[in-house]
Amino acid sequence: MPELAEVETIAQELKNVIIDNKITFAKTFRKDLRIPFPDNLCDLLIDSTILSVWRRSKYIIIDLSNKKSLIVHLGMSGRFYAQSNLTIEKHTHFYIETNKGSFLNFIDPRRFGLITLVDTDKLSESPLFSHLGPEPFSNGFTVKYFAQKLSKTTRPIKNVIMDQEIVVGVGNIYAAESLFRSKIHPERPANSLSLAEVSILRDKIIEILKLAIESGGSSLRDYRKADGEKGGFQELFLVYGKKGHACKTCGSLIDRIVQSGRSSFFCPNCQK
Ligand SMILES: [Zn+2]
Repeated sequence: MPELAEVETIAQELKNVIIDNKITFAKTFRKDLRIPFPDNLCDLLIDSTILSVWRRSKYIIIDLSNKKSLIVHLGMSGRFYAQSNLTIEKHTHFYIETNKGSFLNFIDPRRFGLITLVDTDKLSESPLFSHLGPEPFSNGFTVKYFAQKLSKTTRPIKNVIMDQEIVVGVGNIYAAESLFRSKIHPERPANSLSLAEVSILRDKIIEILKLAIESGGSSLRDYRKADGEKGGFQELFLVYGKKGHACKTCGSLIDRIVQSGRSSFFCPNCQK
């Protein structure tokens, strides 16, 4: 599943290519993905100009001159990228053509993705976004905010940092890597963290996500950058997927447990 860094990378790359382009054509190849496409989606897109491309949580948002915003989620296996020559693949479900000769191709074999259109001035009220916590890089993700949220729950810290209502964008890989770098065991009750630990964990979450974005995402499974190349963050993994490998800090063997159905990798010696 594409995580925050992949989506950020894709949004930035799309922005470079399609900003100020006018949409001249759009086509869907089916009626729905995870939810139905809006009625008249293509008619509403055609003749509008792309004003900005950005990311909220794991959604790509394309603001248009007609005061609508196209929202794209990649689901489990989606890809959305710009091409100068359109290649319609077996699982291309939607594409856009622009006046500058670019095509945006949406491909999603498993069809858990989402494409919808929302009034730009009502984005924050949309059910897709209204429940979400702050962006990790935003002013809202302060130590005070984070400490207050963690103090209210005994749930395991790993589950809490992956809760999108607390902070968006911390997927399974980033959770493991940020907890390792903070020396915090993934099963610790969230309210047992000291203020110093909360502060370190917040810093490490931000650091890991920045590192992941700089290296273009983690490149697992079906993820590709918007230009079709693979990302390189996985080379920086210290614990994720490393069960039985020696910890780079202390030499103990990395362990794996399952929390809420997801693998958690950690060093039993370094992480308390
Ligand atoms: Zn260790």
